[in-house]
Amino acid sequence: MSAPVDLPLYLDNAASTPPADEVIEAMLPWLRHTHANPHSEHFHGRRAADAVEAARDAVAELIGANVSDVVFTSGATEANNLALKGLLSAAGPRRHLWLSDIEHKSLREPARALASQGVTVTRIAVDARGRIAREAFADAMEQARATPGLVAITHGNNEIGTVQPIAEIEPYVRGYGHWLHVDASQSAVREPIDVLQLRCDLLCLSSHKLYGPGGIGALYVAPDLRGQLQPQMHGGGQEGGLRSGTVPPFLAVGFGVAARMALRRMDEDRAHLRQLAGVFERYLIDAGIPYELIGDPESRLPGHLSLRFPGIDAEDLLAVLGPKLSASTGAACAAGELRASQVLRALGLDEQTAGEVVRLSFGRGLSLELAEWAADQVAHALHRIRDRND
Ligand code: PMP
Repeated sequence: MSAPVDLPLYLDNAASTPPADEVIEAMLPWLRHTHANPHSEHFHGRRAADAVEAARDAVAELIGANVSDVVFTSGATEANNLALKGLLSAAGPRRHLWLSDIEHKSLREPARALASQGVTVTRIAVDARGRIAREAFADAMEQARATPGLVAITHGNNEIGTVQPIAEIEPYVRGYGHWLHVDASQSAVREPIDVLQLRCDLLCLSSHKLYGPGGIGALYVAPDLRGQLQPQMHGGGQEGGLRSGTVPPFLAVGFGVAARMALRRMDEDRAHLRQLAGVFERYLIDAGIPYELIGDPESRLPGHLSLRFPGIDAEDLLAVLGPKLSASTGAACAAGELRASQVLRALGLDEQTAGEVVRLSFGRGLSLELAEWAADQVAHALHRIRDRND
């Protein structure tokens, strides 16, 4: 079992995936020679616009959408803000929002801002595996049938990897006339996504979670919602008036190539990611390391491990592991917070046990041998900490 060439080994693909070589190659000309404003009318502008539209096509194909229904944004955070505020702010047509208890901050914070503007925000409970409790959800939807609103749910949870059964809950959303927004930032590269099958009204993506460049994302907007969504960025009226600002061709091109790769490699990537997590877990089991898998063991993002090592503080573990591998205690966006993750607390973990959870998220380029090496590093780090604590 040989060590990786570059230390520390990167095992935080849920926070961000490294841009694929193919992506970087495709982007370079748009930085060097062919750059132009895609909204300009001259030759260079039109050439850039064609590249942006080809990228939009690729992104649309990844999620089974029509190309005209994809709006480029700066990332999933902006897309989530546009979805929530665009439909529910004072100018928006509806005033009720439902979120699960384990949502990403880019949904929670716009929800908080909307609540301060008088929008009713209701939290939906999840079970101990992080799945939305179907009965409670159905009740909540039914009770609000007179005043339909927006339900916003993350498909694959970034912290615990649980994949929500959207198909099971969607009929309650639609049945009572509510709208559905899905955050597919984590899942689009790890789960086949089709907006028509999900029957969602809005769906967001983040390029840097699917081996594309950072700084770009997208919001799918169903055609019948287009007229109801209020832009949150005002200016030149780009993106059909929904998101003013110049679309950067190099980022769009990179995002497009990453989307095409994600679609092309979906089955292969999923199988490989599953194997990586399997090898890692098998090593821990064979080494007799006690651990608990957090989230749903079956319905989870492939290659995503949220693990609790009883009696071991996660920060301690990551500090010992730091020179060997980069992992995290949960959401990168919430890093630096002192309190235990709200997501873990919502699953019923107390402050202490929530502080024992680390997240290891594997990526496409990792070999099975390195996954085993990583598990060996974790096993050694745990022994070191236990010896020190005894
Ligand atoms: N939603 C989820 C589920 C995420 O994991 C992230 C990134 N941590 C975001 C939204 C925000 O994405 P971006 O970095 O593109 O703004």
